[in-house]
Amino acid sequence: MPPFLPDNVLIGTKGRFSRILLDERVSMTRCTIGVVFLAVLFSAGVASGSAPTATAVPSGEEPSYPNILLVTLDTTRADALGCYGGDPKVSPNLDRIAGRSHLFERCETSVPQTMPSHTTIFSGLHPFNHGVRKNLAVLVGPDVPLIAEELRDLGYGTGAFVSSYVVDGRFGFKRGFDHYNGPDIRPSVGGGMERRAGDTVRLAVEWIANRTSPWFVWVHLFDPHAPYEPPPPFSGRFADRPYAGEIAYMDNEVGRLIGSLVAKGLFDPALVIIAGDHGEALGEHGEETHGILLYEATTRVPLLIHVPGQTEAVRHRQPAGLVDIAPTLRDLLGITTPGDGVSLLPTLRGKNANADRILYMESLEGYLQHGWAPLFAAVRGSEKYIESPHPELYDLVSDPNELRDLASVRPATAVDLGRRLAEIRPDDESFEGEIIVLSAEEEAALLALGYVAGNPGEDAGTRRNPVDAIHLAPIHRQALEAKASGDLENAAKLFEIELEEDPSSPVLLWYLGNCVADTDPKRAETSFRRAIEIRPEFEAPYIDLAELLIRNGKAPVAALVASEGIRRTFDAGGRLHYLRAASAALKGADINAIMGDLGVSIERASRPAPAYRLRAVIRLQRLDDVDGALSDLENFAEWSEEDELGNLQGDQRFKKLHGDRRFEKILKAALD
Ligand SMILES: [Zn+2]
Repeated sequence: MPPFLPDNVLIGTKGRFSRILLDERVSMTRCTIGVVFLAVLFSAGVASGSAPTATAVPSGEEPSYPNILLVTLDTTRADALGCYGGDPKVSPNLDRIAGRSHLFERCETSVPQTMPSHTTIFSGLHPFNHGVRKNLAVLVGPDVPLIAEELRDLGYGTGAFVSSYVVDGRFGFKRGFDHYNGPDIRPSVGGGMERRAGDTVRLAVEWIANRTSPWFVWVHLFDPHAPYEPPPPFSGRFADRPYAGEIAYMDNEVGRLIGSLVAKGLFDPALVIIAGDHGEALGEHGEETHGILLYEATTRVPLLIHVPGQTEAVRHRQPAGLVDIAPTLRDLLGITTPGDGVSLLPTLRGKNANADRILYMESLEGYLQHGWAPLFAAVRGSEKYIESPHPELYDLVSDPNELRDLASVRPATAVDLGRRLAEIRPDDESFEGEIIVLSAEEEAALLALGYVAGNPGEDAGTRRNPVDAIHLAPIHRQALEAKASGDLENAAKLFEIELEEDPSSPVLLWYLGNCVADTDPKRAETSFRRAIEIRPEFEAPYIDLAELLIRNGKAPVAALVASEGIRRTFDAGGRLHYLRAASAALKGADINAIMGDLGVSIERASRPAPAYRLRAVIRLQRLDDVDGALSDLENFAEWSEEDELGNLQGDQRFKKLHGDRRFEKILKAALD
């Protein structure tokens, strides 16, 4: 195969490449162990002509495991690559790898979003089974089986090199990796949360150089994700196509990564899997980026699998899914963990896949963020069915851009696929995963990058068909960005534009109320009350209305609003109990009721500092319980943020405690 040509070593290095090829041949003997292992797996049943050629070298040694490289290409449309019919100038290196790999012409993601998609890749599970159904602030649960952990158990050295905060180790991807490079990527307002492919690849190459086999390395490259700002020379070369420029830059770095393996003779005997996590709409069907709609622009991804010893390209037409990657690895290595995907090993050996197989897809982003309808889709052969308030059916072979909806032309097929989807999905599904609390700074920074943490829209919207509302997504994003940056006037205007089209959206009314709470409290109150009236089980407007009323000296009304909210919602975070206690404390109500509410709030809150502080005040002022107050303040100190703790010194409500040894200790800790 031609050598890889990273741009910055391209010039005048012809001799170098012939040396690389020679090295590869020489080192083949060193790497025969892994080759022999997989030669056994791939020698039988491969389709003639297009079959991978395993180099089975006779050896008396015990078979061992091959090195495994998994490269995930973020936000990469399959058709952006030359080997998928795109511009070959964009992807010379990936195209060369495809020349020695199995290429799946139609691979689908499970969710067109980074974190759920990667969780599917690593677990082989549908999103509703691994629980990660949205980006950020969700944890990959400890029970979700992950291939990194399974490979480590087999004796693999495991290393991950990721390029975005979205797959930061804290979200649970770290499990199973001896080395996880990426936790230092922290979003900051004005700063990015992306690391260029060049840096990630350099670290991965260095790590591999010091590793003994077998190793499993995951390299995640994020460059094609918006904003599209390719570095030179790609910025110039693709000046009119910056997205393609990012892909070309990333391709160059993939070439560097694979080139380093080729140079050491490590590419040929390795198992190399290269997959996109989702695509990018680039305006198709009205969507700018990805994450809401389920058209092929964002669901179809590249999938290349180079099996040890493979020297030729093999193309597969049968649909495959990212959900199949983990089952394939498990099948190859004899791991028996069950999954939702299927092993592609029979396909790699030349067998036909099950034509009746359904590939499952979902997108809850529109539902969670905007209150639009959730979307689900099923792909079977060339058919694709999208379930929404107006279900759609497409023939992906004759109409790959999904421009001719066939739902009314082939109603029986649509009904059948709808039924199959219903069979796959659980009846009692929860859209929530295990929640991680992000700091305010993290949330603001993520918003600036187009990510919205939390689920303001869940159950608080009008369940519109996302296809009909997608043009509002950029306005919504701008509104949230303006709100996050403190430009509330502009944010309110943008939410109003959305409300013109969707006047009874509780989530939009709630946002608007938030934006005008300081400048026009009367209007904010009306907005919150209208949101509550439309959707009485939507918690957030009760919280903000109660806070607004307390601020404006209407504690008795606030207590009523909090009580009503407790009655109608779950008050999952205990905030309404806290606010009822706070408004009751202001008007001097029943002490037992107040203490009861604060107990509930402390139990439920992810950050119970304010409830501890309020309870300390009440213990001190109404119960004369100094010991209890000090215990509460110690707990407060543990949960509080720096400025809250700093304010304790000047808080007149605790004047009585000045000079107390325990209190001074808390204050001293605040100063340190
Ligand atoms: Zn992604």
